[in-house]
Amino acid sequence: MKTDVFIAGGGVGGLTLAAKLASRGVHVTIAEQLKKESPVYKGELLQPKTLAILERLGVINEIEGCGHPIDQLRFQEINRIPESPPEEVNLTELNYSRVASRYDHALMVPHETTKSILRKKGASYDQYFHYFPGARFLGFENGMAKIKQKKEITYIEAKVYIGAEGRSSPTRDAMNVQVERKDYNHHFLTVTIPRPEDFTKGKIITTSSCFLGLFPLPDNEVRTVFLIKAGEYKNIKEKGLEYLYRAYSELEPELTEGVRSLKEWKKVQLMIPFTYHVDHYYSGNLAIIGDAAHTVHPMAGEGMNLAVQDADVLGELLAWCKEEGKPYHEYLHYYEDVRKPRVEFLLQLSHLSALVYSFRNEWWRKLRMNAVQRILDDDQLHVKQMLNISGLGRWDFTLIDRAVQGGVLPARKKQISAETQRNFLFSEAEDYPWKERYRKDGSHE
Ligand SMILES: Cc1cc2nc3c(=O)[nH]c(=O)nc-3n(C[C@H](O)[C@H](O)[C@H](O)COP(=O)(O)OP(=O)(O)OC[C@H]3O[C@@H](n4cnc5c(N)ncnc54)[C@H](O)[C@@H]3O)c2cc1C
Repeated sequence: MKTDVFIAGGGVGGLTLAAKLASRGVHVTIAEQLKKESPVYKGELLQPKTLAILERLGVINEIEGCGHPIDQLRFQEINRIPESPPEEVNLTELNYSRVASRYDHALMVPHETTKSILRKKGASYDQYFHYFPGARFLGFENGMAKIKQKKEITYIEAKVYIGAEGRSSPTRDAMNVQVERKDYNHHFLTVTIPRPEDFTKGKIITTSSCFLGLFPLPDNEVRTVFLIKAGEYKNIKEKGLEYLYRAYSELEPELTEGVRSLKEWKKVQLMIPFTYHVDHYYSGNLAIIGDAAHTVHPMAGEGMNLAVQDADVLGELLAWCKEEGKPYHEYLHYYEDVRKPRVEFLLQLSHLSALVYSFRNEWWRKLRMNAVQRILDDDQLHVKQMLNISGLGRWDFTLIDRAVQGGVLPARKKQISAETQRNFLFSEAEDYPWKERYRKDGSHE
């Protein structure tokens, strides 16, 4: 079988890429090992840049219709009191609306819903979109992708092969990349439970030793993320659901009923955070996207977004190659040039966010509380933080910013204008630099 682009893995990254390519008349074939929806929790928070990409793909109305908007990130510091409501210590709200963009919110969408919308979009270009469920990509043989579906082996010949298989990637293995992995001193328990109808704001509730992240989903559900010490899982599981009932109720009494509706421990998933980043994203006519290339700490809610954003840049590049009649593999470096530094930056940002919650003592909590409050008090910090996590742009933190955040310098009074911010939003020329370059230089590099 022959195709223009072969994609191993039909997760959010692979499906975004495939839908985009098919919409531009590029023949694309995806092999996805699963036959049906996965019950595993994965990323659900779509950041503003991802929403912009989904709008260009023509699926934003469906996505918005299935999502719960998150306008703010609320950081609530409390004192936990056994068998009583907590005592509030501090509340800080950071707002997506501080970013000068019409994409002024994030959106919580169940992971499988996002995938299903993307798959449907791709399938609407049936002439170009070929999706094989239950098809496992085994690796390469004689320059072709080897697929096993049921007991049958098929070989697919493509002009370019994309690894979108997530953390365990045969394409990455074939590329001979260096991978650097970082582990953390904490793990998470994650589970979706019912919420009261008026519990609509996302929040992170912390004490000097506890962390509970709450992200409302549609249909009166909320995805919860509870931090535990690395290695503590077995012990907690032995204590059973009563341990979670008590912790959740004492940290957020509004969820007492919701957490008690949880009856089986198997619904609770252990999430072990770690990060890695490969040293190159392409080799010959192979390239990798999403978790195949990088994994970020989940604290900043970026993993799925980075996969979609990789797919957008690579998709635009491959579609342009097809339209201009250029050989795909000669231009893959543009994908790495754009995406690798941006991913590096967000990896660092999410690593710092993880550190903020990695130490359990009162002294560290005070430092954290002041640092978060400073982001709100100093408009430049507020804008930078939200702009950077939104994915819409990049505005690096300076030493002065960090000194303000650490309380060494006072918060600045100046408000950041929309005009100033626009210098830091990614332009189309920054997202897809090859287009500008070839427009200027004619058809030669
Ligand atoms: C438990 C958990 C919780 C997470 N929570 C968040 C969060 O809150 N926010 C966030 O932004 N990110 C989160 N993430 C990360 C986010 O889910 C990933 O970054 C994102 O899904 C990456 O997308 P992807 O398409 O690159 O890979 P994946 O979503 O992993 O998709 C890969 C696909 O490839 C398929 N596949 C794998 N190997 C093969 C093969 N050999 N042949 C064929 N198919 C194959 C898999 O079945 C899968 O469908 C979480 C991840 C996990 C594991």
